[in-house]
Amino acid sequence: MGRIIAVTNQKGGVGKTTTSVNLGACLAYIGQKVLLVDIDPQGNATSGVGVEKGDVHQCIYDVLVDDVDVRETIKQSKVENLSIVPATISLAGAEIELVPTISREVRLKKALEKVKDDFDYIIIDCPPSLGLLTINALTASDAVVIPVQCEYYALEGLSQLLSTVRLVQKHLNHDLMIDGVLLTMLDARTNLGIQVIEEVKKYFQDKVYRTIIPRNVRLSEAPSHGEPIIIYDAKSRGAEVYLELAKEVVTNG
Ligand code: ADP
Ligand code: MG
Repeated sequence: MGRIIAVTNQKGGVGKTTTSVNLGACLAYIGQKVLLVDIDPQGNATSGVGVEKGDVHQCIYDVLVDDVDVRETIKQSKVENLSIVPATISLAGAEIELVPTISREVRLKKALEKVKDDFDYIIIDCPPSLGLLTINALTASDAVVIPVQCEYYALEGLSQLLSTVRLVQKHLNHDLMIDGVLLTMLDARTNLGIQVIEEVKKYFQDKVYRTIIPRNVRLSEAPSHGEPIIIYDAKSRGAEVYLELAKEVVTNG
């Protein structure tokens, strides 16, 4: 049965989508069958794996709001073994439209139950908020990956995220665990980066992945080509580290 992992942090720009796309693609590259689920209305994970939004007729919005079978929305990405449930801007309305609906927090969980056996990993790229979409992701998941940018105020907002995780554990998903905290966009030339690493390790201890993602220009270029890094530039440092992360995630179980 597939392991469902939500990549989440309510801060924008910390590397959630970059991690979802490239962790997903690297897991696929090492032979795992992977489904990426885009639940951010911006749809950056969707375009990031080479799916044109114009070609998307049904997306995760239709699954969550109109009970469309998730299998009808799955598209093949540019990477072998990597499929995606796309998101389009229509999803922006879901946060509000879901509020008065029945079992609004478990809609994604119910939808993914249908495909859980078909994949080894299901990776959910979350929006930058702790609203209903993220709650749906946490409720559906076995584990969370929390990207933390190696910048000033790295830990800011994390206590709010952790208390949301605890609330979901208590009321909606007892089995949810933190797979790991991922340090992203490290600039190794600065002392600041090293300080942030120490601070985050002090706080999260053995929950911090050994793999640290450095700043890498190729990683920031790849999305505009609609290609995960493993396709865009397999020899880059970015590809190396996300491959390393994929192996670490597999080892974690
Ligand atoms: P989020 O999904 O959390 O908002 P993104 O993954 O979209 O964050 O990353 C924000 C921006 O930073 C994007 O432009 C992305 O290309 C860039 N970026 C992410 N990770 C790296 C990295 N390791 N090196 C260089 N640029 C990165
Ligand atoms: Mg994103």
